[in-house]
Amino acid sequence: MNYSIALVPGDGIGPEVTSKAVDVLKFTGGKFGHIFNFVELEAGGCAIDATGEPLPDSTLEAARRSDALLLGAVGGPKWETQPGHLRPERALLGLRAGLGVFANLRPATLLPQLREACPLKEEVLRASHPEGKPTFDILIVRELTGGIYFGERGREGDEKSPDSSAFDTERYSRAEIERVLLTAYDAAAKRRGKLCLVDKANVLESSRFWREICAEIAAAHKNIETSYMYVDNCAMQLVRAPGQFDVIVTSNIFGDILSDEASVLSGSIGMLASASIGAKEAGRKYPPGMYEPIHGSAPDIAGKDLANPLAAILSAAMMLRYSFSLEREALAIEAAVNSALDSGLRTTDIAGRAKDSGEKIVGTNEMATAVMKALENA
Ligand code: NAD
Repeated sequence: MNYSIALVPGDGIGPEVTSKAVDVLKFTGGKFGHIFNFVELEAGGCAIDATGEPLPDSTLEAARRSDALLLGAVGGPKWETQPGHLRPERALLGLRAGLGVFANLRPATLLPQLREACPLKEEVLRASHPEGKPTFDILIVRELTGGIYFGERGREGDEKSPDSSAFDTERYSRAEIERVLLTAYDAAAKRRGKLCLVDKANVLESSRFWREICAEIAAAHKNIETSYMYVDNCAMQLVRAPGQFDVIVTSNIFGDILSDEASVLSGSIGMLASASIGAKEAGRKYPPGMYEPIHGSAPDIAGKDLANPLAAILSAAMMLRYSFSLEREALAIEAAVNSALDSGLRTTDIAGRAKDSGEKIVGTNEMATAVMKALENA
């Protein structure tokens, strides 16, 4: 099969890590008989330099014509004084809106090789893991384009008066809730078959609406074990017993907070991938999908062969799984990343402190080469 991928390397370490993800994708394509064609596009600071705009129309149009988009990172000190509407990060919002992606999928996985990077005690990890292992593997599905971040907001009254007030509104339509829940159920079916809806249904009417709709969808998805949890409890359970979770699905604001909490448990941001996906439209082969590491452009290490390319490579694996349903190929990339870590290779961000750990510190290039070698031998 032929797949067309929009490539947006962006700024800072973006081009370094995406070029490694492209190498891995091409290699995987060769091994499994697919052709991945890449269209390189400008967005972020480099696009401001080239065109005066963070997201040129031509980039968005080309991205919309592609089967999926792989992005590095945007931004950096050079563009920090730009006015708000001309900041590199505007490109991310424009791409998400323009592609119509509404579900953000963020894996929070603790790989056993990186156990030391997790701030939780080993016994805490083991206690909640179904097989007693000191690890966890969670997927947080966050609604991305609705809720309080986009609801009606404003201020009323004279600013200095005690009666003055400010408000933000959490409002969700049935259609917005259904589509993100269905995405989460699909993801759970590709994983361990467990889904937990996180809300505040003891207080919020909007949360009660989420629960009602989730119960309807659960009834039609008997293969998935559905549970419900209040967000305050979930914030605690993530640090007390993370091994109990498979897929967590939640609203925009709760997902924003919980996914950051979960990312700290996984160790370096250099390891964390993400996907933002939307609904399939008529005339398109695949639903739109935007895949990117969660880290930024890391200007402090850009161009020094220090960036960890694994988050970008794992984002490419997510693209294969969630946009193209190439599960075998996605698993092969994930296994190759595991194998590179098993052999003791570490970029500086994930290196342990023990002197006799048997680890070898490597740069971006050597880490990516090790992943491809492992793929070759798989
Ligand atoms: P950052 O994620 O770029 O860096 C934070 C720290 O993590 C730095 O010390 C960096 O060296 C390190 N780091 C990040 N990715 C790494 C990797 N792959 N390997 C090794 N170390 C890594 O966050 P920041 O410093 O707050 O932001 C820098 C710029 O990136 C800013 O302009 C910010 O606006 C932008 N940013 C962009 C995105 C995005 O494009 N999605 C996300 C966050 C921040």
